Amino acid sequence: MKLFPVVAGIALAVAGITRAADSGETRILKWKDGKEAVFLLAFDDSCPTHLDKAIPELAKRGLVGNFYVNPGKGAFPPRSAEWKKAARSPVVALQNHTFTHKGATTAPELDEELARCNDALKDFFPDPKWPRLIAFGKPGGVPWEVPADQVDQLLAKHHLFHRPMFHGPPFHQKSVAECLATIDQALADGTMGHIDFHGVGGDWHVTPMDWYLAILDRLVEKKDRLWIADNVHYHQYLTERESAAAKVIKASGDGIQLSLTCQADPALYDFPLTLETSVPGGWEQCQIEQGGKVTTAPVTNGVVRYEARPGPETIHLKRK
Ligand SMILES: [Zn+2]
Repeated sequence: MKLFPVVAGIALAVAGITRAADSGETRILKWKDGKEAVFLLAFDDSCPTHLDKAIPELAKRGLVGNFYVNPGKGAFPPRSAEWKKAARSPVVALQNHTFTHKGATTAPELDEELARCNDALKDFFPDPKWPRLIAFGKPGGVPWEVPADQVDQLLAKHHLFHRPMFHGPPFHQKSVAECLATIDQALADGTMGHIDFHGVGGDWHVTPMDWYLAILDRLVEKKDRLWIADNVHYHQYLTERESAAAKVIKASGDGIQLSLTCQADPALYDFPLTLETSVPGGWEQCQIEQGGKVTTAPVTNGVVRYEARPGPETIHLKRK
């Protein structure tokens, strides 16, 4: 099998051979599935209306929401079994909002709040993987006196990371039009946008139900262009992509081998990236194999789009 290093294109161009792209030339897409932007929905404080109203509407539309819960606070314990059941749904991603939402004045106090929330959540995830990354939303309106560097150290200890700073109705967006504009802005910028809720159609800091439904319907309308994400997956994708490199190990007329590496810890950062690789002319279907997992994807204009995980496992592309 002939070796084709990544620079082969330059040599071929010098030799006067023209081709659209070299076999194996690989692009890591900005967002999953080639979407133009990302959107995160967050729901704070384990409000009863999340179970009663917000989640059923997400489920109807197949949109994921991030639920920043307090397993040790009033509203959660009486409905713990319902939260556990809800967490089995692909539209519910549970995240850490501390155990009791009382705030923290010392590092040991915060350590305990984070640990107890994680411990409570551990049983709720359908996938038993542990440790795992969980997004952290700082509770608002309560004492918070731990220095930022100590907060960061404790988050790292518990495999937590900061979510984007709270931004949501009725505080920041004062009308449904302002909520919808947040979605449109994310798409216009090609970046991550988010709306953060408390009560939905009831409870506290309420977002009216008609606003909420209009937001969800706008997301559905834009779903082809917008990745509506679990905050953990967004964080993994972004972190992996920032240091990811795809290299051709070998390429020939009937097969391509690639490596995909990144600097993030593969034990925690194991979310697949979306890649596009140029394949030899005449390929119509491509078989993709990595770590024993085999998928097939169509070839469009000499390029195949597929998912692969950064790490030690070689990616094998074959004509199908
Ligand atoms: Zn809160």
